[in-house]
Parts: sequence; structure tokens; C-alpha cells
Amino acid sequence: MTSQTIANTPTPDQIRRAPKVLLHDHLDGGLRPGTVVDLARETGYTNLPATDPDKLALWFHQAADSGSLERYLETFSHTVGVMQTRDALVRVAAECAENLAEDGVVYAEVRYAPEQHLEGGLTLEEVVEAVGEGFRQGERRARENGRRIRVGALLTAMRHAARALEIAELANRYRDRGVVGFDIAGAEAGYPPTRHLDAFEYLKRENNHFTIHAGEAFGLPSIWQALQWCGADRLGHGVRIIDDIHVRDDGTVELGRLAAYVRDKRIPLELCPSSNLQTGAAASYAEHPIGLLRRLHFRTTVNTDNRLMSHTSMSREFEHLVEAFGYTLDDMQWFSVNAMKSAFIPFDERLAMINDVVKPGYAELKSEWLFRQTPSTSGSVTPEG
Ligand SMILES: [Zn+2]
Repeated sequence: MTSQTIANTPTPDQIRRAPKVLLHDHLDGGLRPGTVVDLARETGYTNLPATDPDKLALWFHQAADSGSLERYLETFSHTVGVMQTRDALVRVAAECAENLAEDGVVYAEVRYAPEQHLEGGLTLEEVVEAVGEGFRQGERRARENGRRIRVGALLTAMRHAARALEIAELANRYRDRGVVGFDIAGAEAGYPPTRHLDAFEYLKRENNHFTIHAGEAFGLPSIWQALQWCGADRLGHGVRIIDDIHVRDDGTVELGRLAAYVRDKRIPLELCPSSNLQTGAAASYAEHPIGLLRRLHFRTTVNTDNRLMSHTSMSREFEHLVEAFGYTLDDMQWFSVNAMKSAFIPFDERLAMINDVVKPGYAELKSEWLFRQTPSTSGSVTPEG
């Protein structure tokens, strides 16, 4: 091993300091456990399974890890349950931006479903404005702590509901005020994205951007529909594209038509390794399709999905991948540039983020080995003879 390759294997501290780009993170999946407890008390929410923050964090993680969809979904009923007032939304969004900045994320697109936050009497517009104000507050506080982050919102519509067009219109109305795109989420089976064609066609006519949760639990037909019927710019997960890739015994690889299309068209895959392990889409980090997809130069990106439920962060995701695949700072930079290229903000701003923030950040980290402390020469020389 040369000193250059040693220098390129990132330490946990370097992983945290490296500029990271996050495209797939749910606002209601990333609350601080202590905040859930506070907000439950303030808003009179009495259904929490525990009121001690540590116990609650453990409960969230175990419920999400249980393999039971019912228990997994129950976790969101609690986070969404305490996010029904303006103050709660502002606080959760501000803390989200702060936490991500603290973790070294420089650009994030965080998604949430406005229709899930109306129980306390807020309107859809009030929800979007509260979350937007929270993100701006969080960005400001991060800056005061010497960190820079930019957070854009994606408005999600729920697959099983019938409000997709209304939410798409909402996303379009707020597109120059912090909302950068649209998403559709919820159970894939039984709810194909084609149910919401009117929303996607509307967004295309408005020259707007959207991603679709597809190819997570459900396979290739879901990915195919999201791309070829709905026109998605990116795939939320898309990990099942692996089903259309055949590795022969001699190690050569054959791509099916759909996988070839995804790679040829540089369709971004919003991969979420820890989340996929919890939902059974992969058995271990080492077996996660991200290894092969990265090798085959798909437009792969690394994401957190639900930081609270998966007990993760961008740094943790990269720590797992560094351990499983021996990734270096160059690989981390490749994933981060991929994600930045795939963001929904304007092209010139993406380019500036890549050239002025991401690449210089990695160059700085990669140069650190040059300045490592030379061992002292005084008193430590063993006398010979
Ligand atoms: Zn997701």
C-alpha cells in the first residue's frame, strides 16, 4: 500500500468533514428524539411509546428494524403526530438543517408530504411556509456555527391518496421560494405511479422537476412506469434495477434494456443503503447493489431516507460503505458530485457547488496526509552497537 492510498482511505472524522450532498431524506423521518418528546408535551400528543428520549430513540430503531411493515409505519404516525402546528414544523425543519450541516452535508433536498400536517388546522400553504421558514432558520444557525448548508424542499404526495395534482400545483407555486421539486411516496404495491399521471403531466408542462419512489420493495415494472409513463427525473431508491443486470460466471455483465436505459440516460438513483437493509431490499452492506452499480457507472447517489428510524446520517452511510467496499475519498467525491449534478436547483448553481464547494473540500482532505506530523527526532534514536 502506498502512502497515497493510505491517505485516501477516509477516517470517520474525515468522512464527517467531507462535503456531502443529500437528495433523499424525509423530514418526518429525521426528528431528534428529544424534540419528539418536547413537541408531544407541548401539543398534547399522548400516544408516544416512551417519553425518555433515549428509550424513544431505541423504540424507533427497533420498530423500523422489526421487519413488520405495520410497526415501521407506526413510527411515522408518532413523528407526523407531533408535527401538526406551525411552531412544531418550524422547529423540526430548523433542526433538520442544523443536524445535516453538523454532519458535513452542504446541500440537501428534504421531502415531506404537506397533506399529512393538516390535522391541527393548518392549510397546505401554511405548512409549506412553516417548513421553509424552519430551513432558513437552520441554515442561519449553521452559518453562525461556521457551517454552510443549503436546503431545498421536495413536496411529496402520497400514492394511496388522491391529492397528487393539488400537491404538484402547490410545488409549482412555491418553486422559487424554497421548493425545488415534487415526489410521490407510500406503499408501491397496488398503487402504481400511473394513478397520478395528471400530476406528472402538469409538472412537465410547467417545466418542473420530480422524483418518484420506485423500485424499492417493488421491482422493474415500477421503475419502468416511473420513467416511461410518468417521466421521472430521478428514481427514489431504484435499487431493484439490479434485477435487470446479469452478472455471468466469468464476471462479465449484461444489462437488460431498462437497466441500459437508466445508465445511458444518466438517471440518478437515490440509493439508501441502511433503509434498504431494514426493508429487506438487501441482506448486508457488502451485498448491497450499490457496489455493482457504482462499478458499472450508474448515476448512483448515497442517501439517508429516514435518519431517526434507520439510526443513521450521511456520515454513517459512508462509514458503512467505506468498510464494505473499501471506498476512498475519491469515491466519496464521485458520489457527492453525482448527487450535486442530479439536484433540482439551476445548472449554474449546481456547477458552482461542485467547483467551489465539493471539489475544494475533497482536495483539502486529500492533501492532509502531506502535512501530518513528522515524528520527533529528539531522544528516540536507538543507539546501535
Ligand atoms: Zn424515501
